[in-house]
Order: sequence, then C-alpha cells, then structure tokens
Amino acid sequence: MEHSQIIIGGDTAGIEWRIPVFRFKGNDAAAPSVHIQAALHANELPGTALLHFLLERLRKAEDDGAIRGDITVIPQANPIGLAQVHFGEMEGRFDLGTRTNFNRDFPLVALGERDTLLEDIDRRSAVDRLKRILLHTALGADLVLDLHCDDESLQYAYIDTAFWPEAADLAAALDMEAVFLSDGESTAFEEAVGHAFKRKGGETLSTVPGRLSVTVELRGKRDVYPDMAKRDAAGLWRFLAGRGVVADPAHAAEAYAGPAVPLDNIEMVRAPEPGTVLFHRDIGETVKAGDLLATLITRPGAPDGTLTVTAGHDGLIATRSSARYARRGDDLMKIACHEATGRNRKPGTLED
Ligand SMILES: [Zn+2]
Repeated sequence: MEHSQIIIGGDTAGIEWRIPVFRFKGNDAAAPSVHIQAALHANELPGTALLHFLLERLRKAEDDGAIRGDITVIPQANPIGLAQVHFGEMEGRFDLGTRTNFNRDFPLVALGERDTLLEDIDRRSAVDRLKRILLHTALGADLVLDLHCDDESLQYAYIDTAFWPEAADLAAALDMEAVFLSDGESTAFEEAVGHAFKRKGGETLSTVPGRLSVTVELRGKRDVYPDMAKRDAAGLWRFLAGRGVVADPAHAAEAYAGPAVPLDNIEMVRAPEPGTVLFHRDIGETVKAGDLLATLITRPGAPDGTLTVTAGHDGLIATRSSARYARRGDDLMKIACHEATGRNRKPGTLED
C-alpha cells in the first residue's frame, strides 16, 4: 500500500490542505481498477467509517496477495468543508466562500480530455483545485464510488441508467433498500465521472459495460456506528470480490431484490407552509396515496393552527428530514413511488 497526500495550498497565506490517499497495486492487469472516496460533503461520515474498516481488510488482502485490480481510497475527501465550523456546527455541504455545493460544479469533460482538468491548476481556488484533482484521480479508474449519506435515510444509491442493471451487484452487496435511477445530467461528482465515461469520440454511449460511477447514500448523517460501518465495509468488499478487484474464494454473488426507481418516481414531500413538524410516519414504511405523513403546527395555540401533509402516491419512505421546524417549501421526505409523480424536477441527483 502506498500512503500519500494530495496537498492543496489555501487561498490565503499560511494555509495548506492535506488529503490522505491510499493506493493498492493490483497483481492482475486485466482486473478492473477502483476509486472510492468519502465525505466530499464533509459532514457525511458513514463512508469515512466504512473506509477505515475496508482499508484494514485491504491491507490484509495485500499481505495475502489478494489485490487484483488497482484500488485508490480517499476516506476523507474534503478537509476544506471539515474545517468550516461556525456557531457550533459544521457546514460541510456548501463552500462558505462561494455558497456552492461541494458536490456540484465539477467540470464536464470527456474521458480523453482528462488531463485538461489540471491545466492552469495553480491559478484556481482551493475548492476548484480539490474538485479537479479528485475528478482527475477518479477518471483513472474503471469503477468510481462516491460515499455520501442523507439526513434520516434508508441505504440507497443514485445510479445512472448507463450503469444499470449491471450495478445491481453493488446494491445487493450493500443491502440497499432502494436504488434511484438517475439521468446523469447534473454537475455532481458522480455525474461528471459518468459524463466522461459516456463520451467517446463525440458520441454519447447509453451503456458503459465494465464501468461504474455511483453516489452511495449510506443511510443518515447520524448512522455512524462501529457494527454498521464494519457491515458496510464487508458489503463493499463483497462488491469488489464480485467484480474481481480482490480475490475471495468464499465470495458468492447475491441478487438485488429491492426497488429500482426512476427519479421521476420520487415524490419530494415539501412543507406547504412554515411550521413545527410532527411526523406520523418513518423511513422504511410503505404508504398509500392520501396517508397522513406529518402535521405542521403553523400557528401554535390557534384552534385551526395545524396543517396536514399527506402522501400523493403509493410508495416507500426513503428519507426524512431531521429538522423539526420546516420553512415554506422545505423537503420533509423522499418517497420512492410506483409511478411517475409528475412534478417538475431539475436534471440530476435530487439534492446530493
Ligand atoms: Zn452528500
């Protein structure tokens, strides 16, 4: 294993960011290569915990000669976000300097233009450099996993239809309870990688066998526990074994039995008015159209001071907000529905 650091000079004098990188050299040139990173949204730590335990397993595998494909692991990808602690809370999702989501504004280039990402890199801001170096590193691999988490959430993933159903092995290995099939049309890290993989000779490929770019949502922000992280690390190991990145004679492939739902079928349940949120339903529950999801106390103390929020469609509650005060229009839940919800949505992943 080679342990190195990406070093990025800060935008002010005296600051330097260091990002640990772990690299394993595979012993089989025909095996797929992998890039796995976590905590690009710096306050989403289930992936960092997972990778801590996966690295333990990979070091042992290396001693046993069981690493077949090249593996790059970046367990804590965003020290800039990690340092943004204000008023007692970490702002790990948005860059405070530009108010830009750390998982947006990744440059969209074709795979053949990979090296252009590093042109004039020293003239760019630290956040831009971070994004370009991460993307450049990832585009050197065949399989790219970006580990995130939601607020209160089931285990799920955003997977571009270009990689589906081939990626059902990942969903099975990580015991996912849902897969959101995305269209790959935003500037999130995962979609910038997918964009590059799909562009070949001016053409856009609709499938890219043998490659993968995925945003994994490892449940909720607070789902950071030793047993959970070890179980998820074992799951990721099973995925790597199934793809032949690591050798594991005991590996047996499992089928994915959960739902795979297009983004058009995700009902984003929003607060129609501001208020204190009383949830009646939890993640993992299935609901019918019309079921009561939440009561909003919009005018506390008034006889008609509440508002009910109901499900628009039948489906599975995949995520729920941990906030108990909602502003007008805030997301309360994501429900994976059996049919298109007919709402207007922006292209790309819903919010990560
Ligand atoms: Zn995220």
